[in-house]
Amino acid sequence: MPVTLSLRAIVYDVDGTLADHFRPPPRMLRGLVAELDEAGVPQVLASGKLHEYLGGMARGLGLEATGWVIGENGATLYDWSRLLFEVEGEYLNDVNMLRRLLWDGCLSESEYYEEPKFASVTIFPRDRDLSKSQHVLHLVQDLCRAHGLQLAPEVHPDSAVDILQIGVNKGRAVQAVASKLGLSAENLVAFGEGVNDVSMLELCYPVAPADAHQTIQDLVRRKGGYLASRPGPAGVLEGFWFLRSQGLTGFDLPAWLEQYRPEDECS
Ligand SMILES: [Mg+2]
Repeated sequence: MPVTLSLRAIVYDVDGTLADHFRPPPRMLRGLVAELDEAGVPQVLASGKLHEYLGGMARGLGLEATGWVIGENGATLYDWSRLLFEVEGEYLNDVNMLRRLLWDGCLSESEYYEEPKFASVTIFPRDRDLSKSQHVLHLVQDLCRAHGLQLAPEVHPDSAVDILQIGVNKGRAVQAVASKLGLSAENLVAFGEGVNDVSMLELCYPVAPADAHQTIQDLVRRKGGYLASRPGPAGVLEGFWFLRSQGLTGFDLPAWLEQYRPEDECS
């Protein structure tokens, strides 16, 4: 990837990247995010979570340079500052049909529950048993075949089964948000660690924490992005240290990021 000063906006995966699971983003990172927002840098959250959850998080983080967030792994776009909501994908009817088919005798509510979603479906086994997630995966595949539904199921390590419309992903949504900002996806730095981040990391300048999925690590190396020596949110701060040290961003980054030099360089 050519060295560029045209990186002008940022997109973050949330869980495992901007924040540890079930934790808020750490204080230093919140401070940096606030500082960048004040300087007018658009920062976009992109997650499997519901758009309203992400809108609340963006508001709490003080993200005002843009109100846009990407929900449901790219199936929804939401601007919390104007309450604008958009749905991505061509197969929304298939999502609704699958939901009816699943709960019409296939799945028992005593064993499974559905995370509230608008334009995708997420099913959890109540006991987080991965073999039950596999059962849902095969059931969805059979239903899609039988009814010609244009949907793609995926099992995650936390036992969630996400079912997205074919063609919907975070990368497509990042392109849509970038164009709203008058930018293209190549103008964005993307931070991510999970397989659902592949599509956006492919399009943007990719930065990943040390504990990123192997697929992500390979992608970052292939694209000449930055793979941090620290896991999770500390790896994001280290990523910002790298961007600053290489002068890759079209915006200023603070000098205190020096303390996040890669760990193997510190000793
Ligand atoms: Mg993640």
